[in-house]
Parts: sequence; structure tokens; C-alpha cells
Amino acid sequence: MPKRTRSSKPARTPHVVVSPRLKESLRLGHPWVYRDAIERAPAGLSSGTWVRVQCANLQFFGLWDADSPIAIRLFGSRTRPNPAWVAERVAAAWELRARLRDPARETSAFRWLYGESDGLPGVVADYYRDEAGGHAWAVLRLYAPSLERIKPWVVDALTATAPLAGIIQRDQAGASLLAGALPPDEIIIREHGLRFAVDLLRGQKTGFFLDQRENRHTLEAWSGGRRVLNLFSYTGGFSVYAARGGARQVTSVDSAPAAMETARRNFALNGYNPDDHEFVVADCFDLLARYHGEGRRFDLIVVDPPSFAHAKAQLGAALKAYRRINGLAIKCLAPGGVLASSSCTSQVSPTAFRRMLAEAAVDAKRRLLILHEAGQPLDHPVQAGFPEGRYLKFVMARWTAD
Ligand code: SAH
Repeated sequence: MPKRTRSSKPARTPHVVVSPRLKESLRLGHPWVYRDAIERAPAGLSSGTWVRVQCANLQFFGLWDADSPIAIRLFGSRTRPNPAWVAERVAAAWELRARLRDPARETSAFRWLYGESDGLPGVVADYYRDEAGGHAWAVLRLYAPSLERIKPWVVDALTATAPLAGIIQRDQAGASLLAGALPPDEIIIREHGLRFAVDLLRGQKTGFFLDQRENRHTLEAWSGGRRVLNLFSYTGGFSVYAARGGARQVTSVDSAPAAMETARRNFALNGYNPDDHEFVVADCFDLLARYHGEGRRFDLIVVDPPSFAHAKAQLGAALKAYRRINGLAIKCLAPGGVLASSSCTSQVSPTAFRRMLAEAAVDAKRRLLILHEAGQPLDHPVQAGFPEGRYLKFVMARWTAD
């Protein structure tokens, strides 16, 4: 019986031939086929069709997208994925993150599925346990229409792997309930023992920027006695860590008024009086230019902007924007001050990011000495053959005279 299934299924799966120039990257595990690499495909394939992909002598199974630049996402080479195949990957991803669930870490939210890295290209799911009510939710994001094909399998697998009160899907249009019950407007998660209010239905991305968890923790240790400026602060993640680290004063800046309200709330949730600190709704570029003009200086400045590029073509403009904001930040550092700078643009490599920082320092008539460098935490692992998976850069650097 299993034998029959295996031999009959591929025959019914449409066959797509892709350019042999992809052979090396596909052999190393890269799971994307761009449309311009398609050499032969049956006409009229609709999004969400399983296809058998042939590249030279290699063969894979993939999901076809009719409209997006990535025509096929690959899901392994041995068998055409089915619910059990997806469930295995979801369970393996849960096990991989066991260390994050160690009670000693006092952390109740993490990325459960990180797409390509967990063998499910384009599928992201974050796990959030509400410390107030004790219930947990998974928040799903799908990065291509074809993935609707496996969505029910993913939902079943998430439900079977861990106790969940509900599963929500977030997309451009908003939020929808896929299973169980909706979360309250606010849940309280814990991260390294700190409490953060998160709105899973309306917050940015899936509600919280989980990828900066360890970098926020690093910053805490650098904050003692310092005047801290947290640019692009969102709900004050880095700010609250800085407060716990003994910062003299923390200024949080974001252009989103709702994020600033939640930042105040997050200070209070952790026993810090928001009135001892500063919360500014402003454009960070404008504000920094003003601070510089006024001679206002800080001892530690966090720069964590949103992605400035979504395609290779925007890379030049993105690097210019990074250089401008970091140059301004370096100018606003007091003697001995430290810059904690991030980029979540995957098109900017760690090498290009360091070079941009060197240029920003020269713009500020200074030099930068890198003291610490990091990327993504355990719940955002990177396949060695899929370099795009490593998107986050985090550099701590101190300025010296030029
Ligand atoms: N450091 C945060 C995450 C930052 S995400 C954390 O640890 O949680 C980037 C943030 O930048 C978003 O909250 C967005 O509202 C804000 N933003 C985007 N463009 C901005 C601008 N020009 N000025 C100020 N904030 C901006």
C-alpha cells in the first residue's frame, strides 16, 4: 500500500523544469525558485498547486505561486508533503526551542516556526503565552498565497503540539481567527523576567519584535548610570531593559502614538515610573537633527529602524538611510558614549552593515570601535544554504576621535 501511494503520486504531480544554473543553490538547501528560472511548466497552473521540480538531476516537491516573484517554494525532495510531514516539522521546531521554555529564562514568547529555517518556506508562527490569564496563542503569517494549501495542516499541527487557546492569522488586512478563541486586547508576556503588554490582533508584525530578545538583554548590561536614547522604540522593548539595567534616564522615540502609550504602560508593568522617563512621538531623523542642533547628548543610543529595503534594487537607498540615521546618532553621543545599532534588512550583509557604520562615523568626524556583534536568537535559526534567513544585525560600538 505505501509503495503504491509513493509511485502513483508523483505521476499526478505537474512537472516543472528549472534552469540548471540553480543547481548549486538548490543542492545546498536553498528553497526558492524565482520565476525567471522556470524553463518549462504546464500552462495555467494555479497558486497552491504541488509541483515536481526538476533541476538538472535533482528533484524536489514545491508549491507553485502564479503571481509572486518566487514562483516555487521547495518542501523537500523525498515525498510530497502531507499533513503528517508538516506535523513532523512543527513538532521538531517546538523541540528545537525547548531551551527557551526553560523556566529559568522567564520567557513566554518566541518564534515557533521560522519559515525556510524550519523546513516550511514562507510560514511564520509566533508563540505567546499570556502570563496574566495563563493561556497561549499562536500567531501565523503566510508570505505567499500558495501557502493557503497547507494552512489547515499547519493549524492542526500547532494544535496537536502544544496547548493553545487559539490560533490567529495576521496579514495586511488585519487579523482572523483560525482556531479556538480570540485573545484579549492585551496579553502580558514575559521576556527574561520583564513584562510586556502585547496586542496580538493590532500590534506590529505579530505583536512584538521577538528577534531582538537577546540583544535587548545585552543592552541591559550596558545601561548602568547612562542616559539612554532608544530610537524606533516601538513599545519600549530596549527601554525597559535599560531601566532594569540602571539607566539614569531613558528617552523612547517612535512615530506610532499607540506604541508610545504601550511603552509607558510597559515601564509601569515592571515597576518603573514612566514619569521619570521621556516618551516622544516623532520622526527619529527629524528629532535627532534637532537634538544635535540643541547640543543634547546621550551615553547610549539604540538605533533599530524598520527594514529600509524589500528588494535588491532598494539596497542603495537603504544604506544611505542607515548611514544618515547612524551618523546623526554618533554625533549625539557624549564622550565615551556607545551606539547600539541594528538592521533587519536581509539585503544588507553584516559586512556591508559594518562598512556603513564606518562611513557614518566619518560623516560625524569620528571613528567607531566595535565592542560586540550579534544576530538572531535560537528561535530564528539560519539554514547554512539559505543566507537570506540571516537578516538581523546588531552592533555595539564606542566612538573614538578620528
Ligand atoms: N526596537 C523595537 C522594534 C522596532 S520596530 C523593539 O525592540 O521592540 C521599528 C519601529 O520604528 C516601529 O515601531 C515603527 O513605528 C517605527 N518607525 C518607523 N519609521 C519611523 C520614523 N521615521 N521615526 C520614528 N519611528 C519610526
